[in-house]
Parts: sequence; C-alpha cells; structure tokens
Amino acid sequence: MTETPAPAVRLRPEIVALPAYKQGRAASPEAFKLSSNENPFPPHPAVLAAIRDLDINRYPDATALVVRERLAARHGVTPDEIIVGAGSVALLAQLISAAATVGDEVVFAWRSFEAYPGLVTVAGATSVRVPLTADARHDLPAMAASVTDRTRAVIVCTPNNPTGTVVTAEEFAQFMAAVPSDLLVILDEAYAEFIDDPAAVDGAELVHRYPNLVILRTFSKAYGLAGLRVGYAIGPVAVLDAARSTAIPLSVTEAAQRAVLAAMQVEPELLARVRALAARRDTVQAALREQGWQVPVSQGNFVWLPTGPATAAAGEAFASAGIVARVFPPEGIRVSIGEAESVESLLAVAGEVVRTL
Ligand code: PMP
Repeated sequence: MTETPAPAVRLRPEIVALPAYKQGRAASPEAFKLSSNENPFPPHPAVLAAIRDLDINRYPDATALVVRERLAARHGVTPDEIIVGAGSVALLAQLISAAATVGDEVVFAWRSFEAYPGLVTVAGATSVRVPLTADARHDLPAMAASVTDRTRAVIVCTPNNPTGTVVTAEEFAQFMAAVPSDLLVILDEAYAEFIDDPAAVDGAELVHRYPNLVILRTFSKAYGLAGLRVGYAIGPVAVLDAARSTAIPLSVTEAAQRAVLAAMQVEPELLARVRALAARRDTVQAALREQGWQVPVSQGNFVWLPTGPATAAAGEAFASAGIVARVFPPEGIRVSIGEAESVESLLAVAGEVVRTL
C-alpha cells in the first residue's frame, strides 16, 4: 500500500492520524463476503418496487416524518421521540457531537464497534475505552466507574460488535442506577432483531423510564437496507433536537425513506429471514465449539473467533478459503453469518485454523 503524502494544508493532526476505514472486499466472485455483518438475502421485491420512479429532482422530506410516524406507532412513542439518520452511524456522530467536545470524555467498551473512537475524535473529545471482561462481555461496573465529571456520553453496544455478547436487562438497570441521570447513555442496538436471549436488555421498552437514554436501531442489518443508509434513534425530545442540529441536512434520501416504509409492510417476511439467520448463527457457533473454538455466545448476525496473536495468519487462511472476514489483530476475527452455502467453507477453514492456535 502506498503511503498518503503529508497534506499541503494545515489540518487537525488528530484527524489526519485517524486510520482509514477498511472495508473487506471479496477477492473473487466465488468468495463469501462475511466482513460487514450484512444481510445475505437479496432485496425484497416490494422494497425494490418502492424505490423505482422517484422524483429525484426533489429533495427528500427533511425529517422523514412518515417514517417517524410509522416507527412511533410501532414503539409506542411520539414521532418527536424518534430521529432518522443516514445509517445509525450518522446518528452516533450527531449524538456524540451534540454531547461532547474538546476536553470531554466519551466512555465505551473495547473492543466494540470500530467507528466509536473515530467519531469521538471528530467531535474533538477523548475516548475512554473500558476493556471487555474475559468472556468478551461489557464490564458495566467498570464502565460506570470510569465516568468522571468530564464524561458526556457512554455508549453501550448490545449485542456487542464484534463479540456478539449481550447486556442483560438486570445489568443495564444496575448500570443506569450507577451513572448520573444527566449523563447521555447511548444504547447501540444495531443487531437487536437477532437476539433471542430473553434476559437481554430491550432498549425500546426503556425509553420512557430514563430521561438520559437514547437507543439506536438500524435498517441495515435485519431489514437488509445497508446500501440505502437508514437508521433511527428513540429518546427524549430535547436530546434528539440537539442531535438534529448536528446532522448534515437532508442526508436521509427519499429512496431510503420509501424503502423503510416498504420494508415495514413486509416485516413478517423480513423477520422470518432474521430468525433463519439467527438459527444459522447458533448452528455455526455449536459447530465451532465442537471444533474447540472458545466462541462467546453471540446474539448478533456474526460470530467472534478469538485467534489472539495468530489473527493475521488466520485471516489469510480464511481469505484463501474464500471467506472474507473482519480481522482485528491481535485479538480475533469476526465472521458474519452469510449465505447458507458459506457455512460449509467457513467451518472447513475454521476447523483447520483452530489446530494451528
Ligand atoms: N452500530 C453497530 C454496533 C454496528 O455494528 C454498525 C454497523 N456495522 C452500526 C452501528 C452502523 O450501522 P448503520 O450505519 O449501517 O446503521
């Protein structure tokens, strides 16, 4: 890889130093791209039909009102308690910059979603990373203990990307009781629909309980709309109003809004696909454990292989076997649950790699 030349203009050094986002690419058409936790099902025909014939000479509805009304009805909140963004990652950026700036801190577990530290840096704030427990779960007591009077937001990711572990309702209640009630808590539930553990926290049930809680959901994963970029947050109106002010205006396209409405019309079919993927995840996890892998219990649409110092080599072995996974040296490899046909290749290479650890 060629190195980027030093910029000719003066830029923020902390931004120049940020690592480039690396998106996995399938090296050959036969390879399975299991590196971005995407939904492997093809787009639903009703969704495709809804995004044909758009008036793309017109701007979209700036606040996605119809989408918010539909989501509000589903979650038992008012449309003002919902904000729609260009992916939930955009909403994360908006919320973080609404809450934190230079001199402030944002606490999150590590390892977790790789976008968090970069978004905190962009806001000018400082990341406080709290290590996961030995079993790859959020250490919520340690996260609460990391809160200082400089902390302006805490992000809790459940299921945690990349380890798949969930926070339980009980753990979350204890955590909320332990942190100040004027501290923004963002519950990132990008993979909520894949959960089947009844003990897991469900943020949507809690939005009216805590005045400092915002939950994040996305249409990218369960609903298969990653390419259209649309997510939403539910939370207190005043907090969401601030997040509206930090948004890039009009970034949620008409195509995205129409696709969401169409997807919600065929929701039972889409959720049946989600259940199939969750079942496939459980089959894969069980088979990996049989092979000797110490896989944390994943409730997302991905599994975590703790390959430790051997991660880079293991990632290459996966790639040569046609499995494009997300490699996090020196910790592990995250593999998305993809097409049914990917499972055999995945388990074959995983079975070889585990013997080399
Ligand atoms: N949160 C988590 C935990 C994620 O894994 C992702 C996507 N990888 C996102 C948020 C962002 O998803 P999107 O912007 O597509 O809604």
